[in-house]
Amino acid sequence: MKNRNRLHLATAWCVMPMLLITSIVFNGCTALKEAQQRREKRILEERNTNTLMLKPSKAIIEIREDALFGESDHYTIKFAEDLHEHPNFDEAPERKEFTRSALGYMESLYDAMYKLFGFQPKHKIHVTLHDAYRDNRNAAFTRTEYRSGMLDGRYVRFITNIHMDFPMQMYEKHGVRVHELTHAFTNIYYIPVWFSEGLAVLIQTEYAQGGLHPKFDSLQGNLNIDLNGVNQLESWGGHTENSPLTQWRYRYSYTLVSQLREKYGHDFYIRVFELMEADGLHQKLAESMETSFLVYYFSKAAGEDLVPFFKKLHFTVRKLTKEDILKHIEMNRKRRQ
Ligand SMILES: [Zn+2]
Repeated sequence: MKNRNRLHLATAWCVMPMLLITSIVFNGCTALKEAQQRREKRILEERNTNTLMLKPSKAIIEIREDALFGESDHYTIKFAEDLHEHPNFDEAPERKEFTRSALGYMESLYDAMYKLFGFQPKHKIHVTLHDAYRDNRNAAFTRTEYRSGMLDGRYVRFITNIHMDFPMQMYEKHGVRVHELTHAFTNIYYIPVWFSEGLAVLIQTEYAQGGLHPKFDSLQGNLNIDLNGVNQLESWGGHTENSPLTQWRYRYSYTLVSQLREKYGHDFYIRVFELMEADGLHQKLAESMETSFLVYYFSKAAGEDLVPFFKKLHFTVRKLTKEDILKHIEMNRKRRQ
């Protein structure tokens, strides 16, 4: 909550003086820009090519007597039934030691991620550790659940829960934890699958050295389009998908996300999320965000229209104004009544 207020304040501080005196706007926005540059510099300085530099967390950790459940400031953690008989976790002292260290580590990772993005989810993240999850020991999942309803006559979605499910052998991989935690942070904005995955692979690869998806050397040269001529990133079903295109999709989305950051600065995505947060329009969309909506914010953060760039990559995008987005939201609201 504290952080949301901070974001709102930062925006108001920059925009409101515009109504009063022009010179103050200039100073205000310059100061904001300087603050962004300072943050970017700090992120770069603190970045370690091998791993996120994690500082010990000050979070309070509480573990239940049977050690099947533990809780800290930003997480709960529990052992699924298929681990209760596992030779490494069938005794309370073993589980207690593991849980204390897991929560301590994840809290440090959370602090690092908060610093990186400048925002944090409002809800605790509920982690369940399994021997196998959905009959699989090789895939971890992050789910962000939400409830929708009317608020002041408007349709709005609220996050209700964030869950993570890890088979133990995936939990032990540092890069996977970083990847999933990136999802837990960024999914609160209902972003398209390709952006969510591209960003998760970027953070996993460049901050945790845990990436299995090498970048392509060219976006144009490695295009993959469907029969309608649309970039195959757009029809990505996400983690649950298993198709011959999956590897290409991870690599291509990572390459795209990474190229934009190289061009528009290390804090490009921080600015994108700040702009989204300031408008709050993502909460009013009935479905997940479409790429045109995302490109509207990308363009604002970049200071130039990125629709032609995405069109060249065969995305089905069009240039939107805030009015178009508001009209779309309003039309959906009327249809629902
Ligand atoms: Zn993912």
